[in-house]
Amino acid sequence: MKYSDLSNFIDGKPSNPQGPRAERYSPVDGALLSTIPMSDAAELDKAVAAAKAAFPGWSGMTLKERAAVFFRYYALLSARVDELAEIVHNEMGKNFAEAQAEVAKSLELTEFACSMPQVATGEFEVVSRGVECRHMQVPLGVVASITPFNFPHMVPHWTLPNALVLGNTMVIKPSREAPLTVLKIAEMLKEAGLPDGVLNIVCGGRELVAGICEHPDIQAVTFVGSTKVAKMVYSKSCATYKRALALGSANNHLILLPDAHPANTAANIAASFLGCAGQRCMSACILVAVGEVDDIIAKIVEEARKFVPGVNLSAIVNAEAKASITGFIDRAEKEGFKLLLDGRKATPPAGLEKGNYLGPTIVDHVKVGSELAVEENFGPVLAIVRAKNLDEALEIANSSPYGNGGSIFTQSGRAAEIYLNRIQAGMVAVNVGVPVPREPFSFGGWKDSIVGGGDITGKSSVHFWTKLKKVSVKWNPDKPVIWMG
Ligand code: NAD
Repeated sequence: MKYSDLSNFIDGKPSNPQGPRAERYSPVDGALLSTIPMSDAAELDKAVAAAKAAFPGWSGMTLKERAAVFFRYYALLSARVDELAEIVHNEMGKNFAEAQAEVAKSLELTEFACSMPQVATGEFEVVSRGVECRHMQVPLGVVASITPFNFPHMVPHWTLPNALVLGNTMVIKPSREAPLTVLKIAEMLKEAGLPDGVLNIVCGGRELVAGICEHPDIQAVTFVGSTKVAKMVYSKSCATYKRALALGSANNHLILLPDAHPANTAANIAASFLGCAGQRCMSACILVAVGEVDDIIAKIVEEARKFVPGVNLSAIVNAEAKASITGFIDRAEKEGFKLLLDGRKATPPAGLEKGNYLGPTIVDHVKVGSELAVEENFGPVLAIVRAKNLDEALEIANSSPYGNGGSIFTQSGRAAEIYLNRIQAGMVAVNVGVPVPREPFSFGGWKDSIVGGGDITGKSSVHFWTKLKKVSVKWNPDKPVIWMG
């Protein structure tokens, strides 16, 4: 076994509940990585109790004192990017360079949290003669985050740095597929001086998720994962009157116009659908090809061929996911769509035969409304749908139930402006394959890609992680107070 048996992390120390454990095998080479506790309700209670006990002390510190812990964490993290990238690579399967990039994004998110004293300044106004009003941004208490497998380091950094710097204490339930990375975050925060109990990690399955949503001492829940589970988590959390925000699945459409820059476009689109082997909620999924663009499509195929499974094309998280993606390709082939590249038989280099790999797959002339055009497959697959003009392309893109990201490839400013005004998605771009906004701009999709209000990162998260106390002050001035003046 590559790593030792995993423990939960509660009140600053390892916790090992009795009961079943799950095994985690590496998607890279099939090696047994570790075993994971499948925690029960009692273990969750223990974590919530630790977070609750830590809340008065932590929330009683100043914003600057809490941010100081994250400055120290930032320094630790910057010095250990490769060590963390290695863990992400082993347990989630993305290649080492992509794992390094993920940790770099966590650094950027931490940097934003460190600037919270400059961001969360609240509001103050002399509202009348002799009367002042101000906002106090008060932390909620114990909050929780439920995270997916695909960005095990970055996604926890969407929530925990901001939530904690703002004074909350937290319980995280990581994906069963990638708990090692999340446990490492907790260990490193302890090293940076985070008081015990402020961050607790509990590993487990579905029952644990339900327990979090229903727990009477948890005030807010964030979730990132598939839409089906996002909707369940949101409605269960709201049913017990919690604040909730749940980010879901995606099926991002990129629109390709004939005037796009051929080489840049091809490289961007190939990198977008093949990065992390397509296991990104901001990957290109559908290419809506407008008019005569066969020359650019040929270049995309050429670029995609450069991605070799197990070399620069990442592994698929597990055998079930691989079978599911293969099923999408099989059915698309049966429907008679044209396979320009077929990754089903791709083989990884020697030594990685037991890993889960698929090669780049491009399916052309996919019918609008067919399974491959509508449902998320979360693999290294690009479906090409043909459209006559930009109007039709926008109609196709906007008919998706999801609205996470999207991009247009063109050199026409006018076409780009039309696209930006009419596309129905939360994060959109011009000539950018993966349209993820950089900090301080926030992250969040539209439509079925999100349930709840606001974005998960940036300034929007300040509203999510705090409640406002509205304060009015009258200092008995010598002159009479004029309340409405
Ligand atoms: P998932 O929904 O299967 O799992 C997410 C979390 O929910 C995990 O912690 C998992 O253990 C738990 N879970 C899974 N099934 C559950 C159930 N039935 N009941 C209760 N809990 C359950 O998602 P995943 O496979 O880990 O991640 C991939 C999905 O996440 C894709 O759909 C992807 O688009 C989406 N995603 C979205 C974003 C975004 O920002 N919108 C970001 C990353 C991933």
